[in-house]
Amino acid sequence: MARKIGSRYTANQILGRGSAGTVWLGEGPEGPVAVKLLREDLASDQELVGRFVQERTALLGLEHPHIVTVRDLVVDGNDLALVMDLVRGTDLRTRLERERRLAPAAAVAIVADVADALAAAHAAGVVHRDVKPENVLLDMQGPLGPGGAHPALLTDFGVAKLIDSPKRNRATKIIGTPDYLAPEIVEGLPPRAAVDIYALATVLYELLAGFTPFGGGHPGAVLRRHVTETVVPLPGIPDELWQLIVQCLAKAPASRLRASELAARLREQLPTLTGMPPLDVDEPDPSEEAAEEPAPSVPQGEPVRRRGAVSLVPGAKPDSNRDTHTSMRVPAPDELAGGAHGTARAPRATGAPRPGSARHKAAVRRRRVTLGVAGVVLAAVVGVGAWFASSDGDDHPAPATHSTSTP
Ligand code: ADP
Repeated sequence: MARKIGSRYTANQILGRGSAGTVWLGEGPEGPVAVKLLREDLASDQELVGRFVQERTALLGLEHPHIVTVRDLVVDGNDLALVMDLVRGTDLRTRLERERRLAPAAAVAIVADVADALAAAHAAGVVHRDVKPENVLLDMQGPLGPGGAHPALLTDFGVAKLIDSPKRNRATKIIGTPDYLAPEIVEGLPPRAAVDIYALATVLYELLAGFTPFGGGHPGAVLRRHVTETVVPLPGIPDELWQLIVQCLAKAPASRLRASELAARLREQLPTLTGMPPLDVDEPDPSEEAAEEPAPSVPQGEPVRRRGAVSLVPGAKPDSNRDTHTSMRVPAPDELAGGAHGTARAPRATGAPRPGSARHKAAVRRRRVTLGVAGVVLAAVVGVGAWFASSDGDDHPAPATHSTSTP
């Protein structure tokens, strides 16, 4: 059933549902559009509506072939809507779920497109803050590129900022999806352009491996791994490509590449990757995790969730890997230290230590050391909560969609 959105648009048919609202196929004065109608609870928040209007200029100003352009923001009665370019295709999460792992050339081509989008955004002083496969749309009407990849477009610029109301995030909430959160965010630093590079390198790893480098298990454990653990090498990955991933997953933001450089370096590698099949990587092994650190909160026989984004609310159903900042919470001390709710290991690739091996025992010893480090992480994460709680959105030093960035 069609519905009017403001005076200029009609929403005709639901295209998809996300965490912030429903996306409709719509019609505007210049033809078909995608209309994201924000959830009612968000739309009825007066403060958010105010911010929505404030963000207008920054959101509408971003135009690039690899960015889903926001054409209009509509505030109409109870409706709050973003009118965007219509992308006829699918999102990258859906493709990844279908194929499990992408061929390196396709993965690299897609990530290079997103890096181009980030380069343009960073140059305009905009940090995305929520780069993940759900926010990459594949334009099936665009020409097929290397490795069978359609052009990729980054979407949801500004949405994280819009629904990041201080009220909503008071005291315990943080922004981002845990699997893709850069360590400096966990440590309480403001998110600059380099957080997007870290998230994008995480996406590249995930496209190649089928799982994220630090995901799996309790969200507190995921955050801790971002700060303390080193990424496990992927078997069979060309060395140059691996070096790029490692550099962009560097714990120190300044060590990461800039978006434009990342895009160029990825494209340089495309000719050598063409024709290479997806990597042969072991699936993460839940039994290894159970052998090392039993998680009492997971009843026996129930699958341990290993991949994709996880909810930061303990006990909440790990319902969707489309989970975003709206349901995130800073974990309690025992959760961060891997106590009451248990923790999980980073997924294991081929070549990673198996339970009982000498390397595995060494890893367990290292993990014990990291539990000490977790105390430090806790202090940092509490700092994040305090920072977001005290921020009133537009006047904190750097974060978010129209902050000044230092790409
Ligand atoms: P949220 O950010 O609220 O979680 P999404 O942006 O992921 O929601 O949108 C949900 C779904 O709607 C996506 O998976 C995609 O299929 C579809 N969609 C979103 N934006 C567009 C667009 N500009 N053009 C076409 N489809 C879109």
